[in-house]
Amino acid sequence: MQINGACHCGAVSFTAEIDPARVVLCHCTDCQVMSGSAFRMVVLAPIETFAVRGETKRYVKVAQSGNRRAQVFCPECGTPLYATAPENPTSVSIRLGCVDERAQLRPAAQIWQRSAMPWLSEMQAIPGSPEQGALLPVR
Ligand SMILES: [Zn+2]
Ligand SMILES: [Zn+2]
Repeated sequence: MQINGACHCGAVSFTAEIDPARVVLCHCTDCQVMSGSAFRMVVLAPIETFAVRGETKRYVKVAQSGNRRAQVFCPECGTPLYATAPENPTSVSIRLGCVDERAQLRPAAQIWQRSAMPWLSEMQAIPGSPEQGALLPVR
């Protein structure tokens, strides 16, 4: 399946060919910090199917294991776009938050559940609104 992504400001866009059955939801603490959210949705795409337009910036993250991953983002708006090997990449791990087709992509697996937010299984019980809604009182 072809997917189309773009950062928030539109300076960077990309296309890739992915297997929609291989979408993963990651609860690791790095994904929490770098996505600014409770978890991140990702999918791998072979590098030969991936085409990016626009200037990007990369931050090389070094894991405890010594493994290095380049985290690629828009230098203008900061939207996380993908991660890849710093040298000779064979694939890219696309951040699905910036992909147009994200609502059609249901995760097939969850990883790093030991650091998952403890309230995720109770999402349905959290009061919600279809749009911004009334803000909670500030104390
Ligand atoms: Zn941007
Ligand atoms: Zn992660």
